[in-house]
Amino acid sequence: MKNIDLTIPDGQCVLLCGRSGCGKSTLGRTLIRLLEPTSGKITLFDQDITHLSKKEMLPFRRDVQIVFQDPYTSLNPRQRVGDMLMEVLAIHHIGDKNERMARALDIMAQVGLRPEHFYRYPHEFSGGQRQRIGIARALSSNPSLIICDEPISALDVSIQAQIINLLEQIQAEMGISYIFIAHDLAVVKHISDRILVMYLGRVMEIAPCEELYEHSLHPYTQALLSAIPVADPEIEENREVTTVQGEVPSILKRPSGCPFHNRCPQCTERCKQETPQLHEAFPGHFVACHLYGQE
Ligand code: SF4
Repeated sequence: MKNIDLTIPDGQCVLLCGRSGCGKSTLGRTLIRLLEPTSGKITLFDQDITHLSKKEMLPFRRDVQIVFQDPYTSLNPRQRVGDMLMEVLAIHHIGDKNERMARALDIMAQVGLRPEHFYRYPHEFSGGQRQRIGIARALSSNPSLIICDEPISALDVSIQAQIINLLEQIQAEMGISYIFIAHDLAVVKHISDRILVMYLGRVMEIAPCEELYEHSLHPYTQALLSAIPVADPEIEENREVTTVQGEVPSILKRPSGCPFHNRCPQCTERCKQETPQLHEAFPGHFVACHLYGQE
């Protein structure tokens, strides 16, 4: 991954999108050093955190939390929900025992869990409820930013909308910013303010949500959008779908030039030789593609 700059205004949501293996989860986890970068520098809130010790990272971990994809494996099966939440508060030296308990109960209520759930173990909950516990755990340190790493992809479709609505509601109440990681653009449209499309560890396009849906520029983004089914069966049957040919290469064997060139229907000789740089094609709309006026 190279030169990825994420600016997230307070209370907004940036969506990182791309198919499996594009590097979006790696980016999210590297940002708070759950994964260590092999080279380069990580700057968070204008501070270089690349070489901070565990102790020095603690304030950042309090301020930036993460909700994982699989709510079951991300929760300790031997820990009761209440203990889980109180542990986070203890790690960050928030309140005394009684205050931690009161705060844990407040957060549980905020995510739709009942007081009696305090003493239950993760296996006693449904998938959707377990993800609510994951969200409660992330909220307990009162962060300003939450990285939501595919938090709905392991859930039933019927539960996905409930979790998205809950995240939206929390954002409205607490002004939290989100980095939302997802592999398709369909489900998360209404939670995103800005979208960043990734392919093989590189950013292909960044634009405000509506702009990207209405006027996408990059051929890869256009293919992702085209794959979203339309609810109306008549329109769905007659619409043209742009399919991308070929296999996604390994991120370790990224093609020369444009990383998308071996699958792009508009590829030219230049695309095979020269890597397009991300540039502002229209105000606030960035794209890495030779088709859009880059010198
Ligand atoms: Fe396609 Fe060339 Fe644009 Fe890459 S730079 S997306 S290969 S047109």
